[in-house]
Amino acid sequence: MKIAELFYSIQGEGALVGVPSFFVRTSGCNLRCAWCDTPYTSWQPEGIDLTLDQILHEVRAHPARHVVVTGGEPMIAPEIVALTGRLREAGMHITIETAGTVFQPVACDLMSISPKLANSTPSDPGWSGRHERLRIQPQVLGDLMARYPYQLKFVIAQPEDLGEVRELVGALKAAREQVILMPEGTDAEVLRERGVWLAEICKDEGFRFSPRLHVDLWGNQRGV
Ligand code: SF4
Repeated sequence: MKIAELFYSIQGEGALVGVPSFFVRTSGCNLRCAWCDTPYTSWQPEGIDLTLDQILHEVRAHPARHVVVTGGEPMIAPEIVALTGRLREAGMHITIETAGTVFQPVACDLMSISPKLANSTPSDPGWSGRHERLRIQPQVLGDLMARYPYQLKFVIAQPEDLGEVRELVGALKAAREQVILMPEGTDAEVLRERGVWLAEICKDEGFRFSPRLHVDLWGNQRGV
């Protein structure tokens, strides 16, 4: 399995923010977000091949009971079903962070689905059309939401993004308290500026707000 990085940190986003967690970051993605914060898993994928035994060994070497399988897009990793099965056998709480464009029958305790809004579409002519066609897959989103405990996490760059969020949340019939809005950015000051107006939107509309706590604490670094 191609792995970009394994690391122990705290969950910085979403409903489990603050929980010490071991992160398994797969390499490879079927999208190319303009603002991707892990280009080493998408635009220039890198990593090393590890066996499931090697990954499980690293997981067990740390005290976390929570594992976050992230990417890239972990749902396109060939051994994702087997990996999550092994993590379940090991008694771990499993979060999967996915853009929600591919379904796999994984073992998962929290499906953290982050559908990509129009603000993610790159200008790169080699990718813009493909990204735009693929980024929202209503059938896959519905299947993931029906099968797993979930959160819908949206990356918001400007207030105008809310129209698309409202439309999708309505179409998916998602409960507002399971919808999480998070400011886009990899710089603590940008996140703070955007967070101020985004928090007001969350108060008005009943969505949850998420910080990017790892950026606030450690900046835009790998392995945190
Ligand atoms: S889906 Fe995630 S990993 Fe893939 S390009 Fe977008 S932000 Fe990057």
